[in-house]
Parts: sequence; C-alpha cells; structure tokens
Amino acid sequence: MSKHVLIIGGGVIGLMSAYYLMEAGHRVSVADQTTMTDGCSYGNAGLVAPSHVVPLASPGMISTAIRYLFSSTSPLYIKPRIDRHLINWAWNFYRFSTRKHVHYAVPHLKNISLLSKELYNDLTKNFDFGYKEAGLLMLFRTGKGEKMEVEAAALAQKEGVDARILNAQEISERQGGLAVYAKGGVYYPGDVQLIPDKMMDVLKHFLIGHGVQFFPEQQIKGFKPDKGKILKIDGLDLPCPFDEVVVAAGSWSPLILKSIGLNLPLQAGKGYSFMMCDMGNNLRIPCVLKEARVALTPMENDLRVAGTMEIAGINHRVCMNRVKGIVGSVSAYYPDIVPDIPPKEDVWHGLRPCSADGLPFIGRSRKIKNLVIATGHAMMGITLAPATGKLVSEIISKKKVCIDIDPFSPDR
Ligand SMILES: Cc1cc2nc3c(=O)[nH]c(=O)nc-3n(C[C@H](O)[C@H](O)[C@H](O)COP(=O)(O)OP(=O)(O)OC[C@H]3O[C@@H](n4cnc5c(N)ncnc54)[C@H](O)[C@@H]3O)c2cc1C
Repeated sequence: MSKHVLIIGGGVIGLMSAYYLMEAGHRVSVADQTTMTDGCSYGNAGLVAPSHVVPLASPGMISTAIRYLFSSTSPLYIKPRIDRHLINWAWNFYRFSTRKHVHYAVPHLKNISLLSKELYNDLTKNFDFGYKEAGLLMLFRTGKGEKMEVEAAALAQKEGVDARILNAQEISERQGGLAVYAKGGVYYPGDVQLIPDKMMDVLKHFLIGHGVQFFPEQQIKGFKPDKGKILKIDGLDLPCPFDEVVVAAGSWSPLILKSIGLNLPLQAGKGYSFMMCDMGNNLRIPCVLKEARVALTPMENDLRVAGTMEIAGINHRVCMNRVKGIVGSVSAYYPDIVPDIPPKEDVWHGLRPCSADGLPFIGRSRKIKNLVIATGHAMMGITLAPATGKLVSEIISKKKVCIDIDPFSPDR
C-alpha cells in the first residue's frame, strides 16, 4: 500500500531514505531546517569503508580521550561540561568501550556495510558522483598505532574483509612514488570513495524530478502525538496528511525526540575539512593517518583533508587550533604534501551524530506507531546511507528487512 511519508532531515540518511521509499512506490516529503546545501553530509571525507567495522566505542578510546583532554590541537576532544545528556552519553560510551562489545558490534556493522556497498554498486549504474574503487590505506607511525591497526585488520579478515599489511616502500609505490613517513599501513582494497557534495546534489535533483517534495527552512520542534500516532506537525503546511514520519535529523534528532519522552543517547561530534586544490602530484589512494585521525581523499585534481572529533555540543564554532593540528599532521606522514593553514572561512565543519555504543539507530519507535528513526551513524553515515535508506523503506512498506536490525533498535 502506498503511503505519504514525511522525512525530517535532508542529510544523506534522509535523502537515501527518500530514494528507496520513492522506489517502493511511496509519496515522500522532506523537511529540513536549512536550505540543504551544506552540513555534515557534504564536506566529509567521502569514504565508503566496509572495512571499518570496529565501533567508535572500543578499548583504548577512553584513555585516548583523557590523554587529549587538555590539548587544543588534539584530534579527539570531549569538552567537559555539566550536562545530563553528555554525562549519560559519556557513561554509556565508557560502558561499551570493551572487547566484548566490539565482538558483538563487528558482525552487525559488517552486514550493514556490505549491504550498503552492494547498493552503491547499483546506484552508480544510474548516478555519477565520483564513485571509485581505489581502496583505503590506514597509515601508522608508532608502535601503538601499528598494534591497533594490525589488530583491526585481523578482526576484519576474520569477517572475510580483504586486508593487506604493507611497509612504507610498498605504500609509496602505490601512491605514485610519494615519500611516506610511516612504519607501515594496512591496505583495504574493497573500500571505495565518492564525492559527497556531488552525491547530495545529484540525489536531490533526481528526487525532485521524481516527485519528492522538499520543504526547506522548516524547523520541526517536536511532536504532539494523539493516541500513540503523529497526525500533524505544528507549522508545517503539507499538501496532504502524512501516514508515517521518519526522523533522520542527524545530531539534532534527540532534540526532536525528547518531545515524545525518548532520550536518544547521541552527541554531536564536530569534524573539519578543507580542500587543497590543483595538486600536481596527488594521492592515488585515499588514506587515514592513524595517530592524527586525519583522512586524505583525492577528489579529481584536489585533495580533501578531514579530521577531528570534538564532542562539544551543537554549535558551529571553528577551532583554528584544531585545524592547525590537522594541517601539521599531513606533512608528518607525506613530507611532499605541505598544506597552508586555510583561512577560517574556507574551513568546512560538520556535526557527526555519534551514538554511545557506536551502532546506528534504525527502526520503529516502540512509543509511536507511525515513527521510524534513522540516525546515529557517527563516522559512517556515507558508508551506511544506502543500506539505512533501504531498511527504512522496508520497515515502512512492512516488508521483511534484508538484515537483522534488532541491534540498531532506537529503544535498545
Ligand atoms: C570531517 C568528517 C568526515 C567524515 N568522513 C566520512 C567518511 O569518509 N565516510 C563516512 O561514511 N562518513 C563520514 N563522515 C560522517 C558522515 O558525514 C555523517 O555520518 C553523515 O553525514 C550523517 O548524515 P545524517 O543525514 O544523519 O545527518 P546530517 O547530514 O547532519 O543531516 C541531518 C539534517 O537534519 C536537519 N535537521 C536537524 N534538525 C532539524 C529539525 N528540527 N527540523 C528540520 N530539519 C532538521 C539538518 O539541517 C540536516 O540537514 C564524516 C563526518 C565528518 C564531520
């Protein structure tokens, strides 16, 4: 049966949900508080990395966060503040940073990542957004970095992911002879890259052309359900009533969901990026600089440099010290690539929706019959977007979902 579905949030999760809902024959409207031209889904590193199956909450993260607490250039920062939601999130993050949780989460993240990659392979038959199977290199400079990466590679291999340990010479050869200051790295040939801003534009145009209606600059404050159902939303003037609502509002989702008493353990994790344009000798393979937590993605002739995880609430302040930390790390691994410090206005930032246990929230709410939640993808929103959209469509169409989504339940 065809339904009218209202999606709140026009980021990559909202748009991919709109795409698969439309494909399944539903009428779709998308409301967003912005003009939908910027935000977390645009300036990110554009890596589709099914190899990255270890959740953010994992052993070692807490000690790393504490070590970095007082450094203004560090790649990971949790701003200490008295906030009930932050304390609750931090406590849960701590609780889940165990080997046991990693072993639980890995197969589920693998399943959803592989589903996404399969769907991307289909999408690229119809859309051009710079999708390229170049693989991904994880570079490490320290013994500790090496240990963590080799362990992650072993976990990935156990799950059937192709992972190859390379030395600095082999990395340099794969990067077209660029000098590399690293102990070594892990190469994941199955990983993929795309140009996220291009993908968002292509998707939006396609959806508009196929009857999806967009309602920009509409901030949804919350819901007043009636008998366990959302029937209308104050201030939103839709052409006809809706049957179902999808909350895909990224880092803002908890603000909307608190109106129905749902306390989603999710914090915004700010990251920055900037472009280095017209690279003479560009990287051939995207890479992550392990210790610096910086991603380098070649996009045509340019290089996108992205990094930092700042858990400091929802705000749009750009911390130039942390940007300088990103800049400095690039030549520490690739001495031939020396970025200038970009002017503040050229620094992009995005707020990653980070769940406390490192798994996304995808599923129907237990409290409200016609509400589906799709958020919490943290550092993997681009990777997991098509699979999430497909699952949202299957849930709303009352079809059997193609993978187990119990671990992603918003009420877990
Ligand atoms: C530096 C950086 C690098 C990254 N690199 C990668 C990568 O290489 N690979 C990868 O897989 N992921 C990466 N990510 C993560 C990825 O970008 C995010 O997971 C993803 O963009 C989240 O998408 P979303 O749709 O959930 O949220 P968003 O893109 O934030 O979209 C949410 C939308 O909801 C709207 N909204 C919010 N509140 C309301 C409201 N009340 N009413 C109406 N609308 C509302 C917002 O305006 C926004 O448009 C990176 C992120 C950063 C910051």
